[in-house]
Amino acid sequence: MANADRILVIDDDRDIGELIAATAESLGLRCTATTDAAELPGLLTPEVSLILLDLMMPRMDGIEVLRLLGQLGSTAGVVLMSGISKRVMETAEKLARTLNLTIAGHLTKPFRLAELEDLLRGHIPQVKSAPARPCPQVEVRDEDLRSALRNREFVLFYQPQIDIASGEAEGLEALARWRHPRLGLLPPDCFIPRFEAMGEMDTFCWLMADQGLEEARRFASNGRPAPRIALNVSVQSLKDLKFPDTFIGLAGKHSIPAERITVEITESCLMQEPSSALDVLTRLRMKNVQLSIDDFGTGYAMMQHLVNIPANELKIDKVFVGNMHTNSSDRVLVEKTIEIGHELGMTVTAEGVETQAQLDFLRRKGCDRAQGFLFSRPLPLEAANEWLKGRRGRAAQA
Ligand code: C2E
Ligand code: CA
Ligand code: CA
Repeated sequence: MANADRILVIDDDRDIGELIAATAESLGLRCTATTDAAELPGLLTPEVSLILLDLMMPRMDGIEVLRLLGQLGSTAGVVLMSGISKRVMETAEKLARTLNLTIAGHLTKPFRLAELEDLLRGHIPQVKSAPARPCPQVEVRDEDLRSALRNREFVLFYQPQIDIASGEAEGLEALARWRHPRLGLLPPDCFIPRFEAMGEMDTFCWLMADQGLEEARRFASNGRPAPRIALNVSVQSLKDLKFPDTFIGLAGKHSIPAERITVEITESCLMQEPSSALDVLTRLRMKNVQLSIDDFGTGYAMMQHLVNIPANELKIDKVFVGNMHTNSSDRVLVEKTIEIGHELGMTVTAEGVETQAQLDFLRRKGCDRAQGFLFSRPLPLEAANEWLKGRRGRAAQA
C-alpha cells in the first residue's frame, strides 16, 4: 500500500475512535484516533489521506477543526460525523468548501459497521482488491519474528461463519494478524511461511490457540452462549501425539466446552503427515472437539483418504467458490464436495463467499454454512462483537 494512506479520526468519544481504527485496520489500513482536536497539528502528516471528524466535541468543535485544517492546508478528504440535523451537516460542508477542503462523505451517528466499511473502502481504492498489505519481505528478519512472539504482537481477527438456512452466525474463525510496531497490521502470509521455515509454527499455534480460547468467552452476550470458535492448526502441531491432551487442558483452563471448538486443518497438511495426524485427530474427535478439513479441493488424492479422517466439517476452498460461476469444473467440484461431505455425514462450509449469487447457488445445492466478505471481513475482537450484536438485532426484527 502506498505510504499516503493513513486515516485520522477525531472524536471525543474514545469508543468510536477505537471502533473506527479497528475497522480500518481490518481492511489493512493504518489509522490514528484522537479524542483531542488540539493534537491535530502534530498528527496531520502528509500520509493522512482521510480524516473522520466528529462535529460535536466539547473542547474544540468540528467547525473550529475545519478552520484549523484549512489553515494547515490539508489535502486529505474529510468525512463529517454527527448525530445532529442534516442542515447543520450541510452548513459545515459549505464552510469546508470555502476553506478549500475536500468533503469525502458523511456518517450519521449511530452508524452501522457496514456503512463505515463501505465508506472506508470507497475512499481508499487499494482496499477493494487488497484487504491486506503485501509482505515487506526484506524488512522482516527471523529475529523480529521471534521477538514478536515474545512481545505478543500477534492478534486474532474473527470472521463469522453463517448457517445458510437460519442466517445466524453460528461460528467465528480466528485468523492471525501481526500488529507490527513499525509496519502496521500484517496478514498471515507475511509470517506463517516464515514460522514454518524457522520451526516455530508449533509455538505460534499454541499462542494463538490460547489467545482465541481466552477471547472466545467475550463473544457471549445477554445469556446467549458465544458462537463456536474455529482455530487453525498446522501440521507441525499434529506431529505431537500429546496434542489432544494439551489442547483439552487449554480448553478447560478457559472453560470452553470441547464441542464449541473447531480445529481446522488444511487438506494438504493431512497429506503430509497422514499417520500421526490420524492418531491425533481421532483422539481429538473422541474428546468431542469439532474437526474441519480446510481448503478442501486444493490437495491431491484426497477423496479416498477422506473416509478415514474423523472430520465433521469440510471447507470448500475459496478459489472454487470464487470461480464457480465462470468455470464449470470448479462448479462441479463445489457440487460434488457438498454431496460427498453430506454422504459422509459432514457439515459443508463454503469459504470466500463474496456475492449474493454465490450464496444463492450454494443454498440451492444444500451447502450448510458460508463464510466470506458478503457477510463480513475478519474483524478485530470488539468490531466482531459489534457485528454479532447487529446481526442478532436484525434477526430479532425479521
Ligand atoms: P484460511 O484458514 O483458509 O482462512 C481463510 C482466508 O480467506 C483468510 O485469509 C480470510 O481473510 C480470507 N477470506 C475470507 N473471506 C474471504 C472472501 O470472501 N474473499 C476472499 N478473497 N478472501 C476471504 P487470511 O486471514 O489472510 O489467512 C490466510 C491463511 O493463514 C488462513 O487461510 C490460514 O491457513 C492461515 N492462518 C491464519 N491464522 C492462522 C493461525 O492462527 N494459525 C494457523 N496455523 N494458520 C493461520
Ligand atoms: Ca481456516
Ligand atoms: Ca480455507
